[in-house]
Amino acid sequence: MRSAFRQAARSAGRLALDLLLPSHCLTCEQPVDAPGQLCPRCFEQTNFITDPCCARCGVPFETRERGGAAGECANCLADPPPWGQARAALKYDAQSKRMILPLKYGDRVENARALAPMMARAGAELLQAADWLVPVPLHRTRMITRRYNQAALLAQSVAKLSGRKALLDALRRVRATTPLAELSPTRRAEEMTGAIAVRANCRIMLQDARVLLIDDVLTSGSTARACVAALQEAGASRVDVLAAARVRAQHWDG
Ligand SMILES: [Zn+2]
Ligand SMILES: [Zn+2]
Repeated sequence: MRSAFRQAARSAGRLALDLLLPSHCLTCEQPVDAPGQLCPRCFEQTNFITDPCCARCGVPFETRERGGAAGECANCLADPPPWGQARAALKYDAQSKRMILPLKYGDRVENARALAPMMARAGAELLQAADWLVPVPLHRTRMITRRYNQAALLAQSVAKLSGRKALLDALRRVRATTPLAELSPTRRAEEMTGAIAVRANCRIMLQDARVLLIDDVLTSGSTARACVAALQEAGASRVDVLAAARVRAQHWDG
């Protein structure tokens, strides 16, 4: 009883502190009205990816005509990706790194809640059609050092915000992989082939389901490709991709 009282007093104290201390902008020290907001200056510097963009992979186009009749970029036409559509909320640059890197490496788990509305906006149509949100998995050894999977936190927040269901542990890494940043695009694809599998107890839920794969940053797409292959093998009818940010590709405008 006494410890319950102490616990309640401590929570109340924390709440009072939260109310007393002004909230800070997500990416600078400026005070803002509520936690998880950007100040006007940082908002101005944030590069959202908006239409027009490639219908398939979501890379931004300078003009709608740029995508031609299919509305797709040259890369997607030459080598169609295995997913239906991929979308990302932000360009991966100095500003979005200030939101994503602390979530990935700095225990700033609350940044997932701040990124979720941006992702929900970028992926509104894909979310509406999705049966399940599934995060890209983190390998167990990395899970031990980081303690949480940032893609799962994003999937959870986006699911809550959009009223969709998330299957947080549907995918698992079958083996540890070399950090992809150190590899060439061809080696990345080779490294990821067969590295991800669907958990046996989730297969039934994924049968004929439309899945939205969630990741923090889309880089070369080799991790997403391995996840899509595993989900399709388990019987998913379609897989789309939604990320917080995407790395600038050679073929995108602006
Ligand atoms: Zn700011
Ligand atoms: Zn494309």
